[in-house]
Amino acid sequence: MRIEVFPKTALEKKWAVDKTLFDPDAVHPPVCLRCGASMHGRLAENALSRHCNAMICSKCGTDEAMRDYGCASLPLTGWYAVKQGLVQPDQPEGGAVLRQDCVFQHVFDGPKKTTPLSSWPVPESKVLHLRADYDGHKWWRTWHPCHDAPLGDDLCAEINDFSDSLMKLPEFENLETLKFFCKENAAPTSERTEFNLYSETNHFYVWLRLISRAGDYNLYCSFYLNDQLKLD
Ligand SMILES: [Zn+2]
Repeated sequence: MRIEVFPKTALEKKWAVDKTLFDPDAVHPPVCLRCGASMHGRLAENALSRHCNAMICSKCGTDEAMRDYGCASLPLTGWYAVKQGLVQPDQPEGGAVLRQDCVFQHVFDGPKKTTPLSSWPVPESKVLHLRADYDGHKWWRTWHPCHDAPLGDDLCAEINDFSDSLMKLPEFENLETLKFFCKENAAPTSERTEFNLYSETNHFYVWLRLISRAGDYNLYCSFYLNDQLKLD
């Protein structure tokens, strides 16, 4: 399954289009996706972003370098193109997008149930969660079902496909890459090492709780049947 990260992938796609205006120079250069100012008409006078595969104006290039030095980088969600809606989450066919905002809040606000293994109430549509931790060398995964009836081969395959594709992302290579990824792309929480991301597949809403500290579980990935399906 193809899994994209919003806004990173969307910014890179937008830049791939904007770049075609340079041939090799641009008479009408596009706006800088980071700040909204006009880019320099000569491609080489602009700067390659350190945070996604897109070029930005030279002023932003300098600002990025200084912010990175001070460990205070501007998150991609703070870029002009994202704030102005020039880029949108674009669900790839049969794939999924990881994003900071939750479009299925009604799942958490709706009816709850308890499961045989826990008295903690969870949304009624929750079918299972994956818990994973990185031990310094590899990821360990365990599955925790929250629903008694079998899901069926197709739904199980969809969950496995999403989970396998997620763990194969370069961002999940180790805890350092995960830490960088969370800081750049995930929604922060009141705990500085914990983050949230949300996604959707054909039949599931997915909530990713990411924990970037060592010696703890580092990922809880919960699956909820989407509104087209009801549990038996
Ligand atoms: Zn700029």
